[in-house]
Amino acid sequence: MNIAAHPAFRGTSGLDLESCSKGLFIGGQWREAHAKRRIPVVDPSTETVLAHVADASLSDATEAVDAAATAAPGWASTAPRRRSEILRRCFELMTERADSLAKLISLENGKALRDARGEVAYAAEFFRWNAEEAVRIVGDISIAPAGANRIIVEYQPIGVCVLITPWNFPAAMATRKIAPALAAGCTVVLKPATETPLTAYALAALYKEAGVPDGVVNVITTSTPGQVTAAMLADPRVRKLSFTGSTTVGRTLLAEASKTVLSCSMELGGNAPLIVFDDADLDTAIEGAMVAKMRNAGEACTAANRFYVQSGIYDRFVAALTKRMEALTVGVGISPETECGPMITARAVAKIDELVKDAVGRGAKVVCGGNKPAGAGFFYPPTVLVDVPGDADMAHEEIFGPVAPITKFETEEEVIARANHTEYGLAAYIFTSDIGRGLKVSRQIEAGMVALNRGLVSDPAAPFGGVKQSGLGREGGSHGVLEFTEPRYVAVTL
Ligand code: NAD
Repeated sequence: MNIAAHPAFRGTSGLDLESCSKGLFIGGQWREAHAKRRIPVVDPSTETVLAHVADASLSDATEAVDAAATAAPGWASTAPRRRSEILRRCFELMTERADSLAKLISLENGKALRDARGEVAYAAEFFRWNAEEAVRIVGDISIAPAGANRIIVEYQPIGVCVLITPWNFPAAMATRKIAPALAAGCTVVLKPATETPLTAYALAALYKEAGVPDGVVNVITTSTPGQVTAAMLADPRVRKLSFTGSTTVGRTLLAEASKTVLSCSMELGGNAPLIVFDDADLDTAIEGAMVAKMRNAGEACTAANRFYVQSGIYDRFVAALTKRMEALTVGVGISPETECGPMITARAVAKIDELVKDAVGRGAKVVCGGNKPAGAGFFYPPTVLVDVPGDADMAHEEIFGPVAPITKFETEEEVIARANHTEYGLAAYIFTSDIGRGLKVSRQIEAGMVALNRGLVSDPAAPFGGVKQSGLGREGGSHGVLEFTEPRYVAVTL
């Protein structure tokens, strides 16, 4: 199966789709995995196989690290201006080919084409932003307090980085790491999610075209991520792990990384509360809630997972949200009318179904949706639940699907306590017309990011990341590039 032959790409795609399923991308070359094994990539909308990609084993991973280590000194010593220009070219090529990239994302991930277009724009921005950062990694100089010497601090590239990304944003989760790593002067081995490798490979070809030297970005896919990653993390040439994925896998990787005391940036799971106070503007709250819940059909780490609505606005909010959820067009991701595509796998649908059944079993009521449909594709309908009790599994676990569980609250103190009653702390949403109250409550919510009267929090210019078990470190903003550097301090008597 060759993705280039897919009807969605009739005419020119502008992407090197032939290469996507040619093999691993190591040292600027495409090649088969040593074991000659392949992994099928399934379209979640139709359950058909889109392509097969190479399945790397340990020897392939070692070669990818070899390539990254060989390219590291040259890239680290490339002038920041040159690195910046190459990154800018990556932004331009991604923007020129946005339409084809969006189709590819939509096909392998299932997300609605409109969401995929949004993702491409967001993903490309990391290159534009980090092209600007590449020439502004500024150190400092100061006089030691005792006056005896100067303290010179420079930020140096940390070295070879292993990047591991999830399937829910196949382009953006990769560029959010690759762009700052390259801006800082690091070389990388990217291991994208097995479910969505085609976008990562198509982008690898695009980076090469943009002038990224061979070996600076390497991409390998594998059906044995545990073994392959452990081998790379144990390699003394690797200096950094940047991971985006579940908290469960994140914990395993932190344990692996501890063996070599590796620098780690971890973007992990979320359980975002969405709080609507009585004084909120209803239209703003509904608009924000739809974005916070339904972008990517709920398959986002920042997705609103628990809705807390104050009693005075509760009935109106539930009615208005239900109307919007029921009106969504569910369908094949690639279809332009689709607003809610399928979930990534049958397993993901089964998990959502279990969470809904568990909540209903504990007293929640289904207002709309709530039933797994029959037929091809991993679909789950937009669902609204009310009176979801605090002991329901979905109050503690990521739903990662189009389900909005709503409960009522009375006081500010009560809702803050309930919002913080989780091991996660990634994003939170607050709706109120009183900005003073919004800012006060946002400071009391244990989350790395708070959206006030809006449903979207991600921005390449802002530090993205979580507190508690949602992660370590930040991506984006000026923080993102520093994650790929190490300060070197020189004491000098002048
Ligand atoms: P996942 O943790 O199952 O997988 C993430 C990546 O880790 C994939 O590439 C996978 O192949 C790899 N992996 C799995 N097991 C591994 C192992 N033992 N060793 C090494 N690598 C391994 O997560 P997912 O299902 O792909 O993505 C969904 C999760 O990602 C959700 O929990 C979501 O909240 C989280 N996420 C977080 C952010 C963020 O920025 N905080 C962004 C997107 C997704």
